[in-house]
Amino acid sequence: MTILILAGSTEASDLARQLAAIAPRPQALLSFAGRTRDLPRQALPTRVGGFGGVDGLRRFLAAQAVRAVIDATHPFARRMAFNAAEACVALNIPLLALTRPPWAQRPDDHWIHAADMNDAIDALGPAARRVFLTIGRQEIAAFGRARQHWYLARSIEPLGEALNGEWLQARGPFLARDEEELMRSRQIDIVVSKNSGGGATSAKLEAARALRLPVIMIARPDRPIVPTVATVDDAWRWLATHGLVP
Ligand code: NAP
Repeated sequence: MTILILAGSTEASDLARQLAAIAPRPQALLSFAGRTRDLPRQALPTRVGGFGGVDGLRRFLAAQAVRAVIDATHPFARRMAFNAAEACVALNIPLLALTRPPWAQRPDDHWIHAADMNDAIDALGPAARRVFLTIGRQEIAAFGRARQHWYLARSIEPLGEALNGEWLQARGPFLARDEEELMRSRQIDIVVSKNSGGGATSAKLEAARALRLPVIMIARPDRPIVPTVATVDDAWRWLATHGLVP
């Protein structure tokens, strides 16, 4: 095996599709953490589950003779990014981060910037609000400490614990008109979002803009400083410079 793609983002699956389409097909493997049970079908062989920290990842990379790693995890997956950087430096394996750009605020957006999840909870304030949480299952539980609000929480997997409000199971991409209808029907007055970037979930921002709703936008966590590209095409060029694709 030569290329390990740390997956979890749309870009990881897109790159896998592109790699699977060439002949002879390069040896490559997609790795998932295993947070979602029904993994969409992938174009390349996959493995699921953590490696066991930096040491486990180092053992895996050595045992599989990995020649290059592409960290295409979600921009909020911080630990995996640092583990990959440390393991690749130790083994002298080239590492590229494939990370889409964050969303940029437009003049007609009303964004309230939050540094992290706790900051976002504080930004909701003490008065009861009707909040649309579009942040993924893992972080939703933290909002249990602000019980004065009513929440519409959307995630792919069920919530671990009940929240004051309603839970919706859904996987993007979403359409702006559906997002607008959803926010209207639940009388949402504020949206909480991570700055994930990309097109699959940006419709909520369009809807919030149209409805003139504020959005608490959570900034990305810092990630290791490694060579980084924003597009699958640029990742392809990087693979080509390492002689791994034509
Ligand atoms: P994280 O905090 O960076 O990772 C926690 C641990 O999960 C890692 O230390 C690693 O376990 C394992 N892990 C993470 N990504 C992995 C991968 N691609 N393959 C194998 N093991 C992986 O990540 P997270 O925020 O929990 O996210 C988990 C996964 O969900 C990521 O792959 C990410 O791409 C995807 N995701 C995350 C978000 C988000 O908002 N955080 C959103 C959409 C998708 P070991 O230490 O045991 O190796």
